[in-house]
Amino acid sequence: MGLFNDVVPSKPIPCPQCGQTLTGWQTKSMECDGLPLENAMITLTMNERFTGEVHTFCRECWLWCDAEVKQGILAITQTNHLPPRAPEQGKDG
Ligand SMILES: [Zn+2]
Repeated sequence: MGLFNDVVPSKPIPCPQCGQTLTGWQTKSMECDGLPLENAMITLTMNERFTGEVHTFCRECWLWCDAEVKQGILAITQTNHLPPRAPEQGKDG
């Protein structure tokens, strides 16, 4: 439970909002040659055998990015602004 794999794009993907190179891509649904890969906290370097969905967020402007991988090519499909970082919960409890 809660396991995923890290994904390293084959080329740098810039943040669509601020242009910072996005890092920290993760997936729970990557397939290789059509077969699902086990989510085992391994690092996948993209190649044309991979298809699946990945996501990350921009550490610079806090933009959440969903992306689709097809034949190893990563393309951003959707972005969302994350809410401002909330203060730690429980301090005033
Ligand atoms: Zn950004």
